[in-house]
Amino acid sequence: MRNIISHFLFTVKCELFHIIRNALMKKKFTRKEFLKLSAATIASLAASKPLLAALKHVPEIDNPLAYYPNKDWEKIYRSQFKYDSTFHFLCAPNDTHNCLLKCYVKNDVVTRIGPSYGYGKAKDVYGNQASSRWEPRLCNKGIVMNRRVYGPRRVKGPMIREGFKKWVDAGFPRGADGRPPVEYFQRGKENFIKLTWDEAYDYAAKSMINIATTYSGEAGKALLTQQGYDPASIEAMNGAGVQAMKFRGGMPLLGITRILGYYRLCNSMAILDTHVRGVSPDEALGGRGWDNYSWHTDLPPGHPMVSGQQTVEFDLMDAENAKLIIPWGMNWISTKMPDAHWLTEARVKGAKVVSVTVEYSSVASKSDEVVIIRPGTDPAFALGLAGVIMREKLYDEEYVMSSTDLPFLVRMDTLKLLKADEVLPDYKAPDELRDVTITKKGEKAPFPSKQGADQHISETLLKEWGSFVVWDKNKNAMAGVSREDVGKYFKEKGIAPVLDGEFEVDIQGQKVKVRTIFSLVSQYINDNFNVESVSKITWAPQEAVLSLAHQIAENRGKTLIAVGMGPNHFFNNDLKDRAIFLLCSLTRNIGTHGGNIGSYAGNYRVAFFDGVGQYISENPFNIEADETKPSNVRQYFKYESAHYYNHGDTPLRIGNKLFTGKSHMPTPTKSLMFANA
Ligand code: SF4
Repeated sequence: MRNIISHFLFTVKCELFHIIRNALMKKKFTRKEFLKLSAATIASLAASKPLLAALKHVPEIDNPLAYYPNKDWEKIYRSQFKYDSTFHFLCAPNDTHNCLLKCYVKNDVVTRIGPSYGYGKAKDVYGNQASSRWEPRLCNKGIVMNRRVYGPRRVKGPMIREGFKKWVDAGFPRGADGRPPVEYFQRGKENFIKLTWDEAYDYAAKSMINIATTYSGEAGKALLTQQGYDPASIEAMNGAGVQAMKFRGGMPLLGITRILGYYRLCNSMAILDTHVRGVSPDEALGGRGWDNYSWHTDLPPGHPMVSGQQTVEFDLMDAENAKLIIPWGMNWISTKMPDAHWLTEARVKGAKVVSVTVEYSSVASKSDEVVIIRPGTDPAFALGLAGVIMREKLYDEEYVMSSTDLPFLVRMDTLKLLKADEVLPDYKAPDELRDVTITKKGEKAPFPSKQGADQHISETLLKEWGSFVVWDKNKNAMAGVSREDVGKYFKEKGIAPVLDGEFEVDIQGQKVKVRTIFSLVSQYINDNFNVESVSKITWAPQEAVLSLAHQIAENRGKTLIAVGMGPNHFFNNDLKDRAIFLLCSLTRNIGTHGGNIGSYAGNYRVAFFDGVGQYISENPFNIEADETKPSNVRQYFKYESAHYYNHGDTPLRIGNKLFTGKSHMPTPTKSLMFANA
């Protein structure tokens, strides 16, 4: 009621003010006249019933939902959010989430960006319908992408460094050793000049021709020698100047044709080589394609060491199948933005989150428990957890026996795996494999992009792998096993291998001590990584080591360890992968939904684009113009790791010892073409 009265008085005052103001505007008054008029007006207003009657009371509103006085103010929002048209685009920055977003356009300007809400409509080639639970897929960066697009700092066309342009315009002058004069290469001190696209192509093409010509043949070799390049690197060029040109399609999965086009261009350098050296297409060489995933440390090196494949990965939606989720050196909330909801939903479903981190990160604040360790001590922490599980016999024995190499015997004289053919003359290793095609001597496996789902290995490699030996409890004797004997196939053999044991075997008339890998690993951990020492190394409390080990053991097959890419930056970082793999091997947490190890970079998605190889390596001398036919493939270029360029553009040579092998030998770098990073 008090509000209504004050509103009424305020309304009266306003009406008076308007009447007086209008009158004043028509005629100029003295102060005396003004006061007189005001008093008279107030008096007449007080007596004037009809005028007061016109003043409205604010209606009494019992239920605001049933009555709303005036919604005109909403118009401003309606017109602000009004758009003329929409379109979809795939947001593809370096975070690899590739959200499909919707742009709203007004007066030909993208005024805002939102989620597409189309994921629930998607179907795969088999007709499987995606779930709307992937929505809304977007983050705070994506939502303001239009600001970047229209931002004043965006480079909107080709530009060239002033000195470089002058060098090209002057006809590529070079000193006696082939190096361009330094005055043309004042990088960081010169302006950039805008070019048209045609001019940019012209400058780039002219430079490539010049570099390929300068460094080809014996003359090129002599220049590179004068410049001090490693002889092995110069030799690796095979006399082709195009080999000094490097192309890197960085983060290629963000734009399969757009970014991987750099490798295709690299392959096409074979055409340039035929012109420069006058060689036939059969003898021509392409450029060098630089790596990306491994170079910028997305690769967890321990993964290929342990598993033989680049990376073991899971999609983050798998969190909902887990009971225990361990973001390890991974800031799920900040770096996996559109997938953060899977973590939240997993928690709602009862999963527990324990983060292993070096700081109180945003994911730490969403975790049930946080273990903060010293940076770089991840391997010690993982070994500490594995040690608890081994000592307290909390491992999954059946899994360890059938699906890991922990029961294999190791010769203590050579510290090499005992091979079946050394001790079991009657053992016959399979010469055919279930899922792998063996290429016989003289045969060649199809080009990778044409292998489809098949895997191929050579007969020689199969022999080199050989077969292994375990100690069978059932027969108290050795038994041979091969790579085919894994999981259910191992169980079918009826072998019960000893996990922790030491034996003596006869090898060519000599008594040799052998031990299981399990026994060696557990001794190593017991000697070096007991709970107390792990706590000292990592600064994690002993209780935390014990507690997390027990939780992982309790959640066999249901512990998801999402390792980040940050720990890939440490020296000897493969050790953390290998130690975490051991932990997962002991607890059945490899390769199952909700129980796995991963290092998420979205790289597994390359498998969806099995035409990539055909696109990159299409023979530039024989382009297939019929879209219904596969391309003719011939790889002229060679992959090279950009690490060598970081290493002063040299292979690893210490003194006279060359550590880099022929297959990985880098060439001198004279041009770089980089995309996306
Ligand atoms: S997470 Fe954000 S930045 Fe990354 S793709 Fe999605 S919307 Fe774009």
